[in-house]
Amino acid sequence: MELGFIGLGAMGSKMLANVIKAGHSVTVFDIGQAAVDAAVALGAKKAANAAETARGKEIVLLSLPNSAIVESTVLGPGGILEGAEQGLLIVDLSSITPQSIQKIAGIAKAKGVNIIDAPVSGGTAGAQMGTLSIMVGGEQADFERALPVLQSIGSKIDHVGAIGAGDTVKLVNNLLLGVNMVAVSEALCLGVKAGIKPEVLYQIISNSSGNSYALTAKYKKFIAAGNFEPGFMIDLQYKDLQLAVDTAKGLKVPLVLGNIAQQAYEIARASGLGAEDISAVIKLGEALCDIKVREEAQ
Ligand code: NAD
Repeated sequence: MELGFIGLGAMGSKMLANVIKAGHSVTVFDIGQAAVDAAVALGAKKAANAAETARGKEIVLLSLPNSAIVESTVLGPGGILEGAEQGLLIVDLSSITPQSIQKIAGIAKAKGVNIIDAPVSGGTAGAQMGTLSIMVGGEQADFERALPVLQSIGSKIDHVGAIGAGDTVKLVNNLLLGVNMVAVSEALCLGVKAGIKPEVLYQIISNSSGNSYALTAKYKKFIAAGNFEPGFMIDLQYKDLQLAVDTAKGLKVPLVLGNIAQQAYEIARASGLGAEDISAVIKLGEALCDIKVREEAQ
């Protein structure tokens, strides 16, 4: 298939590699030159802007940081709608607000361009292995059209409802991830301050009722290794909690833990950790308790 791919960051670059591996011909765009060069080295063709990326394509995939950037990439000057032909399908793999994707889809539809929201879960490891979970909102026919491409990047692909439903499920998922990561950080700091080796805590808890994705995905590779390169950036987790908080306020749903967790990431951002992996939130507890949750530091 002739595809476009816009946004070649931590997730996009790895998803692109799997899309190319599946045999698709892909034209790419990113505002970062290094990201584009790496994509060209994988066999992609480069475009000068989003409009050129979309020209003559069947499907364009997006993996961008937030709602405002997705909106400008589709609707703005030099955006997808300027280059799109009737029948183009946009597959938005980013995590953005349901309201934003619904607004963009309404404008695009009037120009004969359809959109599905297809946010992903599974982190950079899942993106690399092509085993992401993908939750899709949109029309059934568009879901079916995108499926062969989605199958090259994910292994659990669900059509969860109309446009915006995928982003809604995703913000609920990332509310849990955000809260769980703060809880894991707090709990590990307590255990280490109380004199237990972090590796012992990990071995026992990962096989006990306190286990979570946040613990298993983030302990060995990030916390124990002292490597906080993302992964999933604190700035993006903060944004996802904002999506949940805004949605909850609109629906009068109390979000006690979600708001507290978001403040933990706010403190991390204020401490200069915004571009680090979400597991770096543990550094706040480490500093307060004067410990390090790393084996060699004990
Ligand atoms: P990232 O910041 O690493 O990548 C974003 C890319 O978009 C960068 O290469 C950036 O240069 C590019 N970009 C920004 N503005 C642009 C523009 N106007 N035009 C073209 N390119 C532009 O972010 P990421 O971690 O890859 O996340 C991408 C999306 O996927 C986000 O919505 C995020 O919430 C979501 N997500 C991330 C993870 C994760 O573990 N990192 C997991 C699931 C979902």
